[in-house]
Parts: sequence; C-alpha cells; structure tokens
Amino acid sequence: MYKLLFRTGKDLFDLLYPVSCLVCGDRQVDRHHLCPYCMDHAFEPSNEDGRESSEGLVLPGWITMQHTLWEFDKGGFLQDVLHHVKYSGLAALGVTLGEKLGHELLDNPYLRVTRETTLLPVPLHPARERKRGYNQSFLIALGIANVTGAEIAPQSAVKRTRNTRTQTGLNASNRRKNLSGAFEVRQMKVFTNRDVVIVDDVVTTGATVFELASLIRDYCGKIGVATIARA
Ligand SMILES: [Zn+2]
Repeated sequence: MYKLLFRTGKDLFDLLYPVSCLVCGDRQVDRHHLCPYCMDHAFEPSNEDGRESSEGLVLPGWITMQHTLWEFDKGGFLQDVLHHVKYSGLAALGVTLGEKLGHELLDNPYLRVTRETTLLPVPLHPARERKRGYNQSFLIALGIANVTGAEIAPQSAVKRTRNTRTQTGLNASNRRKNLSGAFEVRQMKVFTNRDVVIVDDVVTTGATVFELASLIRDYCGKIGVATIARA
C-alpha cells in the first residue's frame, strides 16, 4: 500500500514538475527521462556500425544474432539509467530504450526482426515481478515491438519456476548451474517455426539466454538475443 501511495505521489510530482534528463540534468525531457542528445551521445555503442553481432559474448553459433545497444559502464550513467528502469518505476524509459534498440534491429543482417518474429522477454519469477510491479525486459520488448511490429510471446508461454539467487559474483559455469531448470516452456506452439529474439536489459555471460534458447531451439527458426547493454 505504501508503495502504491508512493508511486501515485511520485506520478503527481512528475506531472507538476518537469522531469530532468538523468544524465545531463536538462529539464526539457517529458517522461522519457533522457534528452535526445544524451540518448544519442552519452553511452558507448557496443558495435560501432550498429549492425554487427556482439563479438565479446561466448554464445554457441546456433544463436545467430547478438545485438546490444551499448557497453555497460560500471558505476556510470548507463548503470544508473538501467537501475532506474528496473527499480524506480521508470516504465516509459524502458519502452523508449526498447524503441531505440528496435530501430537498429530492423537492419540487423543476421536476424531481421519483422512481424514474423517472436520476442521473448526473459521472464522474472512471479514473486519478484509482483514485488517490482513489472518486468523490465517486457518493457524493452514492448519498445522493440512498437518499431518492428514483432509479436511478444504471452507471459504464460514461458515460466520462471525457480527464483534463482542473484547471478552477481558467479562465474560463467556457476551461473549456468544456478539457472539450470529455472525456466519451463508451457506453450511451445508460440515459438514453433518462428524466429525468436530473447530480450533482456543487460547480458553478461549469456547464461540466461543460453538456458532459454536451449529449451526452444529444436522447435523454432533462428534464435537471437537483443539487449540494451553488454557487461
Ligand atoms: Zn541529457
């Protein structure tokens, strides 16, 4: 209840006082929280021409597209921005970032995202989603869908059945163990013969993507991953 009151109060506050850019403090940014200049210049692009798949990720070759907008800057502005999307209820910003990503995905030569593509936002455990109020990966997927017309897999299609401990501080092989059996596909027909793009805010070792992709790979077309940042 307190959280709801707080949120409502915060929304009112946002209405009465213009929102300033999270990076430069410019106050002309409506509810997107990032001014157009910072959106285009504040963060380090992860792939210079915006088209290549990311090189640094060690995912198997059958994941044909790995597209990420920016390099993660530990302790920097991008970390701050993503933290706000995740925990401070800046849902509109999550969608805006997704739209930016969506524009790049229209041209991705490895897996072209179209109406024929299905987006799979990495599911949160229901308990965690209730606590947070939303799933930040879904917001990003919503933005991608706005631009590309791609479908978003219904929430009921894949469930996170285990509330895994945080991945922070685990190495790649322990991350994979931590996630093993964490997801369950309940409606495979959603993915059957469709190109699927797994959507997340940050990709680190790729363990989450790998776990999800392994469950559907025998049934779907191409598989890709799209994220806002790569750590
Ligand atoms: Zn700015």
